[in-house]
Amino acid sequence: MSDKIPLAGVIGSPISHSKSPQLHRHWLKTLGLRGDYIPMDVSAQDLETVLRTLPKAGFVGVNITIPHKEAALEIADLVTDRATLIGAANTLIFRKDGQIHADNTDGYGFIENLKAGAPNWHPHAGPATVLGAGGAARAVIASLLDAGVPEILLTNRTRVRAEKLADDFGKKVSVVDWVQAGNILEDSALVTNTTSLGMIGKPAMRIPLDGLRRGTLVTDLVYTPLKTDLLAAAEAAGCVTVDGLGMLLHQAVPAFERWFGHRPVVDSATRAAALR
Ligand code: NAP
Repeated sequence: MSDKIPLAGVIGSPISHSKSPQLHRHWLKTLGLRGDYIPMDVSAQDLETVLRTLPKAGFVGVNITIPHKEAALEIADLVTDRATLIGAANTLIFRKDGQIHADNTDGYGFIENLKAGAPNWHPHAGPATVLGAGGAARAVIASLLDAGVPEILLTNRTRVRAEKLADDFGKKVSVVDWVQAGNILEDSALVTNTTSLGMIGKPAMRIPLDGLRRGTLVTDLVYTPLKTDLLAAAEAAGCVTVDGLGMLLHQAVPAFERWFGHRPVVDSATRAAALR
């Protein structure tokens, strides 16, 4: 019998901005569970050593964030199909047999956030525009195709990156030039920003947004600020909007359940805890 307190955490660099510690600690407290969740700033060269050592200290798993999501996938012994497809891991489970199991729950969190924030949106409603072709875009596109979206229009500053992504995901994804991004909004049932544009400290989004039309669902993965310029413009155009914080909360649900054995709920208290 071990009396180790079950520990989880998040590994990235930098990590001090992460909202995950207050989120998981809120769930541990409200569910009355023993455990803790620790932010850890780890360099790329130390990542594997740290991951192999943490289980010995009572860690049951960790979240992985920028810049280690791809490296964590390489280190893992077992990888889910969705993490393989996305090419990155955001959740690791340390199994009792010593193996590291990698998953990616970002796409799950993205779809659950849309379901919760825009219950009238239907994946079959029409084409989805995705701005950006980085790691988050891969998770978003995988989940949209899985949900049944008929067509994805993908646009990225670096076109070749979007083309690689379209090659990986097949015929339903077509690439549109970044300079044409404003022209595809009108025909989209869903518009998703997966770039870092509009985040505090990053450049502003300069895409012309006058093509946004009433009823289109617009969501932004950026959640600092909560109401980005994109979401504010969408709201003014009569669009339905969903902010990016909910994705962060929902992606954490399956991880917490695997680590601590209880499925938490995402509600207004969860949101408030993450924002504290
Ligand atoms: P990433 O792999 O580094 O990709 C960054 C994306 O932003 C690329 O498409 C990049 O285009 C684009 N970009 C950056 N600077 C730009 C600029 N000046 N002009 C035009 N495009 C620019 O990052 P990621 O992991 O995909 O994350 C992207 C964003 O999603 C971040 O803000 C992250 O915090 C957020 N995110 C949120 C959640 C959530 O739970 N809400 C989850 C995951 C990620 P290029 O290819 O041309 O460089």
